[in-house]
Amino acid sequence: MIPLREDASCPLCGRFSHPSVVEPVVEKDPYAIVRCAVCGICFASPRPTPAAMAEFYERYFAEDPLAGYEHYREGEAWRARVARHRLALLGRFIAPGRILDHGCATGVFLDEAVNAGWEAYGVEPSSAARSLILRRAPYVKVLPPEDLATLPDGMFDAVTMFDNFCYLHDPIGALREFGRLLRPGGVLLSIGALDHGPAHRAPEPGITHTFYYSPRSVARLCRAAGLRVLMNRTIVKNANNPGKHPFAWLFQEVPWVRNLFFRQHCFVATPEGGA
Ligand SMILES: [Zn+2]
Repeated sequence: MIPLREDASCPLCGRFSHPSVVEPVVEKDPYAIVRCAVCGICFASPRPTPAAMAEFYERYFAEDPLAGYEHYREGEAWRARVARHRLALLGRFIAPGRILDHGCATGVFLDEAVNAGWEAYGVEPSSAARSLILRRAPYVKVLPPEDLATLPDGMFDAVTMFDNFCYLHDPIGALREFGRLLRPGGVLLSIGALDHGPAHRAPEPGITHTFYYSPRSVARLCRAAGLRVLMNRTIVKNANNPGKHPFAWLFQEVPWVRNLFFRQHCFVATPEGGA
């Protein structure tokens, strides 16, 4: 049987000082959220092991029709709209070239990226989601996470991650890897939940974000990983999942109203020393 949970040290300063000095925030049975007394980041400890997360992703797309695959399929039209918004934002920083979407799910974003002139690569831990992409979008090259390290330095003009950053087990390590994969002047774009509010205090059981970031901690994580931040702010557009908010759900066909109920965080970074 695979171990389901593990203790963690602070994702920001755990690399430099340990053991982490932590204060409890909330229990999320069988996990817990703690706050680092040194830098203030909240993170899960104990948290799901990488193996437990891999199993969760596999089930998310392969088995659970409400939570995963069907949910993704039903939402494809608005996901495509969100993808076009995100590509427009990316376009403010870089022209189309080769793109890697980390945690690409069923590939809706990459499909739109190809339409916009990008050569598309995706990384996705779920084999069910990968085989779906192979069937419906064979022009997207999709890899399991373990193959990321085999890709050459500077291969990409852009790396993207959506609702993905907060699930990384080693955010600084991942940011360094994205920096390695980007050419000089290439950009990383991340959009996801900003959790310095009450979200991480809700004692929901089960799988949890591995850490909770703020604009300030994003800046520090990027600096520690050798990335220069070009943009780092909360955005109200590009609602992620309208089902999660009753008012957003009511107004889901009126995006500008729906988006008022959603605040996400966006950051854009480039390898230090690049153009
Ligand atoms: Zn810390």
